[in-house]
Amino acid sequence: MRNSIAAFLLVASIAAASVRAQDVRQLGPHVHGQTRVQVVVDGDTLDVSLVIPGADAVGFEHPPAGPVEAAAYKNAVAKLRVSRRWLQPSAAAACVPVSVEVSPHGYGQDAVVGMHAELEAIYRFRCSHVSALDAIDVRLVDVFPATHTIVADVLLHDGALRQELDPGMVRIDLKP
Ligand SMILES: [Zn+2]
Repeated sequence: MRNSIAAFLLVASIAAASVRAQDVRQLGPHVHGQTRVQVVVDGDTLDVSLVIPGADAVGFEHPPAGPVEAAAYKNAVAKLRVSRRWLQPSAAAACVPVSVEVSPHGYGQDAVVGMHAELEAIYRFRCSHVSALDAIDVRLVDVFPATHTIVADVLLHDGALRQELDPGMVRIDLKP
């Protein structure tokens, strides 16, 4: 009996440690087909960040092995970097992209066998007419056809709203 309690405690403490490790990475296991988007509007600054499962963007979730996989990985990162075609704030708001940062998780030395891998991208815009910023169109499925749903969290100065975009929907509304 004593042994089984000790074993239970050991297993419980290992489980707790691995949960803490995940918290540190801030990346829970994603759902393939689902991209998470966060939109923050602060003054004239619009930040859009996105986490797309590697399975959807790259086609695999491990460090690239061989030239074919290396090319697929590079291609996915390049598509995320050039957002003009698929990430469009309301035209009337006149938002200009000022920076983009694409961070891979699980495609290099941080890879863990059996763990998911994903790409994170952060876009910053400055908007001349932020009051006209009503929506953002995210045509992610045009560049990554495996995208099924987009779950968007929008943080505005007067509240937050969550929207789930099913296939065929591309618009994130920024006005409640
Ligand atoms: Zn995955």
